[in-house]
Amino acid sequence: MSSPFVHDSLQQRVVFAPGAVSRIGEEAERLKFERALVIATPGSGERLGSRIVEELGARAAGLHAQAVIHVPVAVARAGVEAARTADADGLVAAGGGSAIGLAKAIARETGLATIAVPTTYSGSEVTAVLGTTDGDRKVTVRDERVRARTIIYDPDLTLSLPPAVTAASGMNGVAHCVEALWVEGRTPLAEAVAAEAVRRFADNLPRAVKDGRDRHARGECLAAAWLAGLSLSTGSALHHKLAHVLGGYGLPHAETHAILLPHTTRFNLASAGLARARLAEALRASDPAVALADMVAGLPIPQRLREVGLEQARIADAAAEVAALAIALPRPVAAEDARVILEAAF
Ligand code: NAD
Repeated sequence: MSSPFVHDSLQQRVVFAPGAVSRIGEEAERLKFERALVIATPGSGERLGSRIVEELGARAAGLHAQAVIHVPVAVARAGVEAARTADADGLVAAGGGSAIGLAKAIARETGLATIAVPTTYSGSEVTAVLGTTDGDRKVTVRDERVRARTIIYDPDLTLSLPPAVTAASGMNGVAHCVEALWVEGRTPLAEAVAAEAVRRFADNLPRAVKDGRDRHARGECLAAAWLAGLSLSTGSALHHKLAHVLGGYGLPHAETHAILLPHTTRFNLASAGLARARLAEALRASDPAVALADMVAGLPIPQRLREVGLEQARIADAAAEVAALAIALPRPVAAEDARVILEAAF
């Protein structure tokens, strides 16, 4: 018999096409934006942001290219201030999860609608989840006001994504899918979507890393990122909770997900037979944890938590924080379990 579930349909328009960024004006018009503030990260994100400001023409209120990973509270406050000063009536978030995260923080305070133009595979554009950081604590809230109203996926914008960001954000996407297969709130829809996204990532992420200009692989990975974000909407469990705690310690988000994933998978699949079967099929491997470890090992990203700044002395604290969450499914996680996982990933 199927497990009980609750499914909420999303109100989100998705436009997917090579060159689709040139349709930003039409999409802004649909949402009646007359003064959209474009949010981006500094550097390469700023160039994309400027291009979008140009495309928006008279519908642009300016560019705020100040996004920082994990949205520190001061960055969020400055973003809200920028939106108010510009008298913005809408937001366009251009870039990866950092730009989208800042737009979410502004949307939560101002109620403004957002068009997201994602250029990585981390999937934040799909979700109603906002993570901010205050010192070394990361706080996550779920709020429908922050979910992008429209997403424009333009695979051409990802041709410039460096191999390491391609690899890490792609594994972040895979992590959403893997967790969706064992999380308590999973639904038949999320399971099907997650399995399909894992299959597309497994087939295409290594190709996109090897040759960033492989348009087919880029398109498949971006479509997989959408599916991964959709599957994440059903909630999170051990894997994301661990990554969340380490994110608060200042570890890089996507890389931390990639490093942890084979370890959390090995632990949880021991008690999640259906998730194991689905993953085995999607990855075409008898042991999904080994397949994920092999996938990570073949990517140009850090392989151990020690390489991304975790101090071994903090492992016990992190394990205690995760144990305090009393995660029960697919199996209970005691502090000692979390410690063993973190030591193995260290
Ligand atoms: P990112 O946005 O931090 O980008 C990583 C780097 O790649 C940045 O320097 C950026 O400027 C650069 N970059 C992005 N796109 C590029 C492109 N097309 N070409 C060249 N350079 C490019 O990376 P991310 O992993 O997408 O985002 C991480 C953040 O997203 C974290 O803060 C994380 O918490 C958040 N996140 C949130 C959710 C959610 O649902 N709330 C989900 C996933 C990630």
